[in-house]
Amino acid sequence: MSKPFGPLPPEFAAQSGDLMIAGRSASDWVREHGSPLFVYDPTIVATRVAAFRAAFPGVDLHYAIKANPHPAMIVAIGAMVDGLDVASAGELAKATVVKPAASISFAGPGKRDSELAAAISAGATLNVESEGEATRALAIGDRLGVAPRLAVRVNPDIELKGSGMKMGGRPSPFGIDAERVAPLVQELVQGGADWRGFHIFAGSQALDTQALIETQAATLALAERLSEEAGHIPPLVNLGGGFGIPYFSGDTPVDVAAIGAALGVRLAGSPLTRVGTRYAIELGRWLVGECGVYLTQVVDRKQSRGETFVIVDGGLHHQLAASGNFGTVVRRNYPVAVAHRIGEMPADEEVSVVGCLCTPLDRLADRVALPPVQIGDVIAIFLAGAYGATASPSAFLGHPAPIEVVATRA
Ligand SMILES: *Cc1c(COP(=O)(O)O)cnc(C)c1O
Repeated sequence: MSKPFGPLPPEFAAQSGDLMIAGRSASDWVREHGSPLFVYDPTIVATRVAAFRAAFPGVDLHYAIKANPHPAMIVAIGAMVDGLDVASAGELAKATVVKPAASISFAGPGKRDSELAAAISAGATLNVESEGEATRALAIGDRLGVAPRLAVRVNPDIELKGSGMKMGGRPSPFGIDAERVAPLVQELVQGGADWRGFHIFAGSQALDTQALIETQAATLALAERLSEEAGHIPPLVNLGGGFGIPYFSGDTPVDVAAIGAALGVRLAGSPLTRVGTRYAIELGRWLVGECGVYLTQVVDRKQSRGETFVIVDGGLHHQLAASGNFGTVVRRNYPVAVAHRIGEMPADEEVSVVGCLCTPLDRLADRVALPPVQIGDVIAIFLAGAYGATASPSAFLGHPAPIEVVATRA
């Protein structure tokens, strides 16, 4: 029995069997740019942003650039969102080219003094992850003669149920345990910081709409409680994000309209809203994951003990996540297609698509039913817009880096 694969994102239509990406066929893209190739279509991101705006009026949208830090993507998305979230001095440098520093926040454990200084002198907000980091940031602000913009990242006592990556309710290298936050806020204010508020991120890749609604409500309640304990009004509460996308067979998209409606009711009744607190949601994967396709050409086909292998010129060194080796427990198949045989029947040849690396981990699709595949065909692996090219071990085995193109439509 062949194994199922996830749903193709709705934007990718076919024209006479050819997969179309941003108005051009996949084969065209490969002919012009080569293979293996990531193509990103920012107009798909724009539709996600529009859906967010409709669902969450008045809530700021931030883009977590680690999901896809391609410079042209940061430019395109930077123009659509209210803020950028970065996680290193390198990302900070890329973000400040695109957005004013006041709309950039920098989270992540283990920020070095040089990184704190770069953020403080640029005027970006540091989401402090520990008391020690807060002390260092204040001292660096003193030395530079700048009041550092500091938000407190909270390690919440809640967790995002059903999320692929849990980040709350347990010991964590991220954020400061909720019960120690109020005294720290007071110290920051007394220490001369420009206190920016709270950052509360409870998890990632959640597809359970109801769980997201409950987590946001609990996150807001926590922010209200901490503000009261601290005796200070947070200018901004970053409610986290964690909206997932459907990668696998049986997955369904999150209902952002329902999440937004529930949050809207909750925010309207919040004492923080009455005193002027703003809110932000930070998203990476949900904004960019579906806009990217990884295209890779078939180099060889072979049979071995009853299994047919289609061997491509790409692999996990470019798209680690599709091989199931990026934070997944059970290996399941990403949406996959033969790019110029979309909809072709019968699609009943069972093949495994494997990459060109010398490791059995390099399996991009495991025993899937596809139309007949030949050498030279282009295989498309969808959902390659987030945590693809830069989240994969591209130096492993010394193959060339992937080509990445950001589509512009005529
Ligand atoms: C990685 C990260 C994000 C983005 O997560 P997605 O699942 O890609 O939306 C948001 N906030 C923080 C703090 C992160 O570390």
